[in-house]
Amino acid sequence: MNEVQQQIENNPSLQVVLQSNATNLLGLDRAGLESFFESIGEKKFRATQVMKWIHQLGVTDFQEMNNLSKALRNQLAETSCVQNLHVAKDQISSDGTRKWLLQLHDGNHIEAVFIPEDDRGTLCVSSQVGCALDCSFCSTGRQGFNRNLSADEIISQVWIAAHLLEEEKKPGRKITNVVMMGMGEPLLNFDNTVTAVRIMMDDFAYGLSKRRVTVSTAGVVPAMDRLGDTLDMRLAVSLHATNNALRDELVPVNKKYPLQELMAACRRFIDKQNTRSRITFEYVMLDGINDQPEHARELIKLLKGIPTLMNLIPFNPFEGSGYRTSSKNAVNRFREILHASGMTTVVRKTRGEDIDAACGQLAGKIEDKSRRHRRFEEPRFGME
Ligand code: SAH
Repeated sequence: MNEVQQQIENNPSLQVVLQSNATNLLGLDRAGLESFFESIGEKKFRATQVMKWIHQLGVTDFQEMNNLSKALRNQLAETSCVQNLHVAKDQISSDGTRKWLLQLHDGNHIEAVFIPEDDRGTLCVSSQVGCALDCSFCSTGRQGFNRNLSADEIISQVWIAAHLLEEEKKPGRKITNVVMMGMGEPLLNFDNTVTAVRIMMDDFAYGLSKRRVTVSTAGVVPAMDRLGDTLDMRLAVSLHATNNALRDELVPVNKKYPLQELMAACRRFIDKQNTRSRITFEYVMLDGINDQPEHARELIKLLKGIPTLMNLIPFNPFEGSGYRTSSKNAVNRFREILHASGMTTVVRKTRGEDIDAACGQLAGKIEDKSRRHRRFEEPRFGME
């Protein structure tokens, strides 16, 4: 061992530096891995071999990848790594929902949630540390924003969930669907989201079909167009309001891309996709704010001609939100009106409430760079 190696050996913080310089193969999609292998003078097909080891077999130690030559295994161990996030907390709800608090290398935390249902298992994945969009009814938004997740930090959520669920050895505990509906706005982290989605859909990784991967957006119009040109998967749009005045208040990105532009982008998106696809719209039901029959009728007009799956989400309250959940009656009446117009409408069940795993409750633990949380320490205008 030479002097430098000895120094590294004796100093754990230097080892971390070394590791962070290594390429994390976890976050490379097929094309990325192919160019990686070409860059080190290897054949392209190594990409699918290594993808299988990492994502299907859960192997992170190159020495176990026994269809690679010994020399290549050593070379990989020197220049690259397969580095997952650290599981800081692992909770299971009484309804089977399982939530992970995951620590990033910079000390921030994000969350991912597995939601089992009769016919599927959905993993809800985060795309950013916090969120910059500041939607008034979302607790993630209140925490402020720190940074984008890298592609490996996004896909690591799937890797960890897939492997910890497998360890449960119980039926029905398998990821069949992924929704990018955790913390953050995926379309403001476009490239890393696309790379991670490609890995989710790759047959040599998680092999999810395009109908089983959903990217959800609050309505970043130019990125929706780009997404339609780049990937074929399901799109969900967080709508929540039927006129600009209300939507400006609930989903402030509406001031930049108002409803008319958003609806036009939805139509363009559908035109680019195959004929069977439709858009999922999310609509959080807020008592006395957006849950009246006239809102339902406005919604029908707004979505005319767009193949729609409407998801009505009961508002999940959190301290200081200033909103109340709509009554069951209001939700049913609303659903009936939509239903009568021929719109496929489902009321989303609230899951994992006892572990704060429901929509809009994902909080992680982040260092806010926007300093937005400070604003919320003072009462909001018009609220007690
Ligand atoms: N930024 C993206 C991805 C997050 S998806 C988007 O907005 O689509 C998270 C979903 O949960 C969104 O539809 C969001 O509007 C909804 N949500 C946020 N806070 C909520 C709450 N307190 N109760 C119910 N749904 C909420």
